[in-house]
Amino acid sequence: MSQPMNTHRYDAAAVTTAYASALEVIAAVEPDVAGAIRQELTDQRESLKLIASENYASPAVLLTMGNWFSDKYAEGTIGHRFYAGCQNVDTVEQLAADHARALFGASHAYAQPHSGIDANLVAFWAILAQRVEAPGLAAAGARHVNDLSEADWEKLRHELGNQRALGMSLDAGGHLTHGFRPNISGKMFHQSSYGTDPETGLLDYDHVRAQAREFKPLVLIAGYSAYPRRINFATMREIADEVGATLMVDMAHFAGLVAGKVFTGDFDPVPHAHVTTTTTHKSLRGPRGGLVLCQPEYADAVDRGCPMVLGGPLSHVMAAKAVALAEARQPAFATYAAAVADNAVTLADGLLRRGTKLVTGGTDNHLVLLDVSSFGLTGRQAESALLDAGIVTNRNAVPRDPNGAWYTSGVRIGTPALTSRGFGPAEFDRVAELIVDVLSATTPSATASGGLSQAKYELADGVAAKTQAAAAELLEKFPLYPGLDLS
Ligand code: PLP
Repeated sequence: MSQPMNTHRYDAAAVTTAYASALEVIAAVEPDVAGAIRQELTDQRESLKLIASENYASPAVLLTMGNWFSDKYAEGTIGHRFYAGCQNVDTVEQLAADHARALFGASHAYAQPHSGIDANLVAFWAILAQRVEAPGLAAAGARHVNDLSEADWEKLRHELGNQRALGMSLDAGGHLTHGFRPNISGKMFHQSSYGTDPETGLLDYDHVRAQAREFKPLVLIAGYSAYPRRINFATMREIADEVGATLMVDMAHFAGLVAGKVFTGDFDPVPHAHVTTTTTHKSLRGPRGGLVLCQPEYADAVDRGCPMVLGGPLSHVMAAKAVALAEARQPAFATYAAAVADNAVTLADGLLRRGTKLVTGGTDNHLVLLDVSSFGLTGRQAESALLDAGIVTNRNAVPRDPNGAWYTSGVRIGTPALTSRGFGPAEFDRVAELIVDVLSATTPSATASGGLSQAKYELADGVAAKTQAAAAELLEKFPLYPGLDLS
């Protein structure tokens, strides 16, 4: 029997048997872990998950990760491993790469990165290898760094450490790995960042172009974690070409919208970027992991991700990537992706109609960024009050945020997870109503010195319980993994 959960289709009895048996085996060794796994399912079933970077993978994807591929070392590339006996790893890595190339129309795919951060590290080092190291070796008449004289190696090391990257600023929605100090990317590159227009909150391409002309980066990075709009990658490529930069796009957040053909033409990064990176677990709805797609001239360098910055690949996760990418190639995934974007518009409209302020005034991707300063709250207070009421979001800086990156003035709200459960426009409008009800009933607490706390707050009596009940009513209609019964 097939159970509907939007685009997930599975045999509920088989999935129940699989998990019940697995939990029995686990409980025989460490019952507390089995208990935590059961509890996690219950908690996820009972929460209104609006974290823009989270989703629910299919049972097939989840089950593919729990097997003996986990035990196998397979450093190297398909067919060229540093370990014996990798024929089955070759099979699944090849499948993951083939599905990725077909799904995204990419000429090359590398499925080994363990996460989005790792995919970005692979991309940075591949760009440095292709753009700086290879010409440096050629100039010194060497084929490998080990063949360089100490003086030539010193010169090359200096050049490798003196490159520039230009990416979107954190408060405009960029990611830590796009050149920010707490991340290695901000230490390996001289970094500069572009923001958004102070009036509209939108990316100003002329401004990016002017900055690129002046800064002359080796890498121009596009992509985001919290920008609620599409990016014109054809224009970004034009800018990169004009200044001789490599265009790297991190589509970690919106890969599902690219896969589902919501973002096409100028808004599809893959044909325009030299190197595209992604996670596989956000809107793409696969296992936790990363992926690098690139144009042919970067392929050799990208394939050296291991041993450059990666150790042995997680073969069980590469197998699950292959399954998830196969799912994303089905027509049902395009329907899902379109619903993710439509639901975000409904959510944005529902919030705006109820008098709230959204960064950029709306959305055309899978997320909205709600500026909670009009409620007199910090993002931290809003996030906590919503959580008390059973609504899971995360606080996020808004452009030029006066409260900084810790307390923030925003809450990021995404539609991928609840769309996977089957939520549609009516449910997302109700979600908007619940969010506004909770925030309207929340006030910052007073500090001992008579000011307003940035962390503490009071939520009016009864609002949390009332909202939790309303959320439960919504969630009951769209069960998570319907038919999976572990009682
Ligand atoms: N890139 C972007 C744009 C992200 O939003 C994230 C995660 O939030 C990452 C990279 C890092 O992904 P991971 O947590 O898998 O390392």
